[in-house]
Amino acid sequence: MAKYFGTNGVRGLFNELTPELAMRVAQAIGMYFKKGKIIVARDCRLTGEVLRSSVVAGLASVGCEAVYLGIVTAPTAEFMIKKLKADGCIIITASHNPPEWNALKVVDGKGIAVSKERGEEIEKLMGKIKLVEWDRVGKITNYEMASEEHIAEVKKYVDVEKIKQKKLKVVLDCGNGTASVIAPKLFKELGIEILSINAHLDGRFPGRPSEPTEKNVKELIAGVKASAADAGIAWDADGDRVIFVDEKGNYVIGDKVFALSVLWKLAEKKGNVVTTVATSKAIEEIAKKNNVKVKYTAIGAPYLCEKITGSNAVIGGEEVGGVIWPEISLAKDGMLTAAKLAEALCERPLSKWLLELPVYHNVKLKIEADEGKKKKIVEKALEYAKKNKLDFVDVDGVRVNLEDSWVIVRASGTENYVRLFAEAKDEETAKKLAKQYEKIVK
Ligand code: MG
Repeated sequence: MAKYFGTNGVRGLFNELTPELAMRVAQAIGMYFKKGKIIVARDCRLTGEVLRSSVVAGLASVGCEAVYLGIVTAPTAEFMIKKLKADGCIIITASHNPPEWNALKVVDGKGIAVSKERGEEIEKLMGKIKLVEWDRVGKITNYEMASEEHIAEVKKYVDVEKIKQKKLKVVLDCGNGTASVIAPKLFKELGIEILSINAHLDGRFPGRPSEPTEKNVKELIAGVKASAADAGIAWDADGDRVIFVDEKGNYVIGDKVFALSVLWKLAEKKGNVVTTVATSKAIEEIAKKNNVKVKYTAIGAPYLCEKITGSNAVIGGEEVGGVIWPEISLAKDGMLTAAKLAEALCERPLSKWLLELPVYHNVKLKIEADEGKKKKIVEKALEYAKKNKLDFVDVDGVRVNLEDSWVIVRASGTENYVRLFAEAKDEETAKKLAKQYEKIVK
């Protein structure tokens, strides 16, 4: 079992992810990537600069070249891996978590986020750290053009002229996070009139909590209505997750952001779609209409990246509003997703786009269970699926795909629960399905 690595890097409060630990983890990461050139980036959290110092020192001490990009979004840093021909990347950010948290997110030279399993290998190296000779200590350099280069790249994948002619007005809520350093500039370059809120960096996130939930973006919703804007957009602290607000002030949840992105992408280019087992069947319905397949993975960014590489996928994503556009990188790119929205708005208003999405209702249940019981419950679901020859996926819990509905039974990784989630065309069927499976597994 990994001691420090979770599904997405090493995460903790400042007294857990200390400067000392950050240095040791960085040294092990440097050894794991066999020295080479490692990109370092961070968000604006108050502990970011201290941890950044530890990380670059750790990398250089084992012979890596550390290239520090400054405060940039996670997708910016991940995009730069290919551009700078780096062997890996460490992003210091706790994403949408509260400001007292921080984390080291690790990405390899191919742009694939390092999973818990690979994290375990890195942890083994922590006991075997070997400093280089004094004259072999790595270089530490700064590279300040990353956001500019990311903007230039995003602009390659949308019709900039078409967007400019449309004269859109959009409200941007950067949540005082890294989107502040790139989103207003990107949208100005797309010729969009913008109103920005929470668009200065502040590691305390004073404007709103970092996670762009409906409750947290009330100010954005009010702003869209008051200014009669075409849309609103909000990001989390590292700029990979994104949510929209339509021109009427309706909140557009992450799974719909992903579904819209799939709709737009498949209209442009056909290919498979990669998503996690927790994603709405709406994606499958859109894929079916386009004669392409949905490939399911376990929950977590690393598994999505791994699956996209080598499955002929044109898009990937997860239900919280993270969309991967493989043409730019394997990161969930909240900037390209936002630019794609601008392009789509040239055709019709966002509320009209939402009408194109298949409608599903869902029901969520929690079954209390300790570790042993969790396993048994999931096994029961698997047995039932096998015995009844159902169409199922068991990469993370058991997802059973039915004609117009689906259900998943999955053990929580952090809490003493098994989660049961059912989705169907109407609420009644979803409820019935959830109850039916609760009975089966209990
Ligand atoms: Mg994030």
